[in-house]
Amino acid sequence: MNFFNPQRIAAMLTGEYICPECGGRLIFEDEWETVLVCQCCGNSIELDRYGFTDDEYESLYPTEDELDN
Ligand SMILES: [Zn+2]
Repeated sequence: MNFFNPQRIAAMLTGEYICPECGGRLIFEDEWETVLVCQCCGNSIELDRYGFTDDEYESLYPTEDELDN
């Protein structure tokens, strides 16, 4: 699993983030550029999660159970 997935690399190259829900343009919600919000449907996504499914994102980081070993 690579932290920089293809969607994210494309976004860095073009400067455009695309909404996974409706295909609209995502803009940053705040000046810290941590959360992207869709201008079309209002969907919001953390930049860290951009381009990942929930399962893929979860697999990037160990769960607390795994850390207890
Ligand atoms: Zn959208």
